[in-house]
Amino acid sequence: AEQHEVGLSVRDLSKSFGGVRAVVGASVDFHHGRINALIGPNGSGKTTFFNCVTGMIRADAGTVTYRGKDITGKAPHRVAHAGIGRSFQVCRIFPRMSVLDNVLAGVRPSGLVALMGSGRRASDVDKARALLARVGIDHLEGAEAGDISYGQQKLLELAGVLMTDPETIMLDEPAGGVNPALIERISTLITELNAEGRTFIVVEHNMELVMRLSDHVIVFDRGAQIAAGPPSTVQSDPAVLEAYLGV
Ligand code: ADP
Repeated sequence: AEQHEVGLSVRDLSKSFGGVRAVVGASVDFHHGRINALIGPNGSGKTTFFNCVTGMIRADAGTVTYRGKDITGKAPHRVAHAGIGRSFQVCRIFPRMSVLDNVLAGVRPSGLVALMGSGRRASDVDKARALLARVGIDHLEGAEAGDISYGQQKLLELAGVLMTDPETIMLDEPAGGVNPALIERISTLITELNAEGRTFIVVEHNMELVMRLSDHVIVFDRGAQIAAGPPSTVQSDPAVLEAYLGV
């Protein structure tokens, strides 16, 4: 039963930038144990929705709860502490720092604090190395993060997200700009991590990947959910076709 309880629940979320209504009364439930895909045309509010949920920006209205706990408007580190980790559409890496230090920076979602002053904890270093091995880039631990490929940077970012052991992982375009071989690696990792009990919420434009990877698809258009369900159902939903094709 635990598997399909609602984890993250968003109610009536709204966010405008000046006159641009980016998210407009969005209400979405994400169930535990699933790989949820959040799709929708460019500009439909997916990233803004992510940013509001994870505390990167403050919503104008609405509530966000996780496991029944109100996390509305909480700072990113509080959201992370509640069990939600996230990656970014454009990789947030520190290009002049080593791959290993980048993973260690994931210990504290608030940033570099972990690397400053008091120094590294041996247990964190062991964990970071294990995670680099898990995502398949442990041979690059000493390289500058800016020197590895974009796909490898995405894997690095995933390793960083995993440092805080999040039970729910939000990924913004994990396959965007990544070569096919590394897309497969990322896809396999998501499937494996999900089988181990982690819930995913993934914004992704690669429809072939979305249909193959996810077991629940939420479709956004003009700042709110217009459809949700299994990939096969959503794919043939007239409202979804209209949103994408304007038919
Ligand atoms: P998506 O991720 O679905 O492409 P976004 O959330 O990025 O959609 O954008 C939704 C709308 O909000 C777009 O019209 C976009 O231009 C606008 N928007 C997003 N962020 C900002 C911002 N910081 N300032 C002004 N407008 C923004």
